[in-house]
Amino acid sequence: MLQYDQLSLNIPDTQKPRVVIIGGGFGGINLAKKLKSKDFQIVMFDKQNYHGFWPLLYQVATAGLEPDAIAEPLRKLFDDCDDFHFRLVKVTGVDTALKQVKTLIGDLPYDYLVIASGSKTNYFGNKQIQQNAFPMKQMTDALNLRSQLLQSFEQASMTKDPGMRQALLNFVIVGGGPTGVELAGSLAEMRKHVLPSDYPGLDFSLMNIYLVEGLDRVLPPMSPEASAKTRQYLEKTGIQVKVKTMVESYDGETVTFKGGEQIRTQTLIWAAGVQGSLIDGLPADAIERSRILVNEFSQVNGTQDVFAIGDVALMKTPDYPNGHPGVAQPAIQQGALLAKNLFRLSKQQVPEPFKYFDKGSLAIIGRYQAVADLPKKLHLSGFVAWIAWLFVHIWYLIGFRSKLIVLSNWLYRFFTYDRGTRIIIRPHVRKDDTVAHEILAKSEML
Ligand SMILES: Cc1cc2nc3c(=O)[nH]c(=O)nc-3n(C[C@H](O)[C@H](O)[C@H](O)COP(=O)(O)OP(=O)(O)OC[C@H]3O[C@@H](n4cnc5c(N)ncnc54)[C@H](O)[C@@H]3O)c2cc1C
Repeated sequence: MLQYDQLSLNIPDTQKPRVVIIGGGFGGINLAKKLKSKDFQIVMFDKQNYHGFWPLLYQVATAGLEPDAIAEPLRKLFDDCDDFHFRLVKVTGVDTALKQVKTLIGDLPYDYLVIASGSKTNYFGNKQIQQNAFPMKQMTDALNLRSQLLQSFEQASMTKDPGMRQALLNFVIVGGGPTGVELAGSLAEMRKHVLPSDYPGLDFSLMNIYLVEGLDRVLPPMSPEASAKTRQYLEKTGIQVKVKTMVESYDGETVTFKGGEQIRTQTLIWAAGVQGSLIDGLPADAIERSRILVNEFSQVNGTQDVFAIGDVALMKTPDYPNGHPGVAQPAIQQGALLAKNLFRLSKQQVPEPFKYFDKGSLAIIGRYQAVADLPKKLHLSGFVAWIAWLFVHIWYLIGFRSKLIVLSNWLYRFFTYDRGTRIIIRPHVRKDDTVAHEILAKSEML
């Protein structure tokens, strides 16, 4: 079997300054696209070989889109760059004194290091929730959830136990931000238009979708107008919205809220928070609230040639004293500016400080329904916001192929209400569920 010590990074030596980028997300690819390979050698490390368009991840989870519709191979994105080198490997740390990046298969010296490693799910230290809940952060999370949703309907249609049937048909989404809202809306749409014809023997009036938020309104990062409209629409579609509600525990069978209320559910989706994907080896005073403290030039606190951009970076400015929002635009804009600034720094010129241009935010709630907060305190909702949402998401999708697949898929769904990917390819089984493992092994599904 191939061992790690049989592998090596194999990056050619160079006379040009070497920029090492950790992460091919929104920040990393926008930086790499703007850096000129005549001026720099560019090395990108990512633990996955694709760039994911996370705003549409909920559609993969709810059988609306195939995973490859929202992902683009990183090598393909840069196949026209001469001195660009991608390696599929996890970065384990950095040695800022030696100016080396450490990976699972060896170390590499850098001239400039850019950490664009994004964020990961935050369970706020609750190990039990981490073990039993379904996160919504990566492609594998969405595929696990898709299997879980479809398996729940299959099992609900076969169980003789009414209590278990109800637990299978109760879906609890924790986190009333855009991901939670979009998931809830999409599940409600499936309940109305898709599932009754798939499972004619199952009573879908029993299917409950709960959306749970700790603060006093859904979509807390958006305007109160957007929150109010969203809640109104969600409740109209039969979603049970619980605000000011905190989850205390979830053992895989029952969720218990602070105050004692309980719901039996086989599916608790955790979309309640993220934290920076940190890289070991940075100075201790460069880390604050699980993010990397940077100055207005994206330079990591206490370092010279190390930079951080996007979700992992905490850049405090007068306009954003708690850092920029954890959305795609700050990552895209920081990546683009850093490309210019690295060029300036390499020529001993003065870099330009970052100024965030807020283009507004959008969230889809359901068919023909979305909310939008635009610059100059302009708010949109309903059909117009829905059209804006469709347009923006097609526009920002990376790659012509993805745009075409998503657009044709949406058009098909628009006219037919159908969702083509209701397929369980790899059944989801919790690691510790030995009984389920045994049953699936017997039925040759594993
Ligand atoms: C479900 C979901 C929905 C979202 N919806 C929206 C939305 O509607 N609008 C919006 O603007 N934003 C949305 N966001 C947020 C947006 O996706 C992020 O703000 C954006 O991706 C941040 O870009 P980034 O480059 O910092 O990180 P990412 O895009 O997350 O990229 C980080 C990359 O780093 C890699 N990586 C991490 N650690 C390592 C390591 N140690 N070694 C190697 N590689 C590593 C990862 O594999 C990943 O490819 C959503 C996010 C999620 C999860």
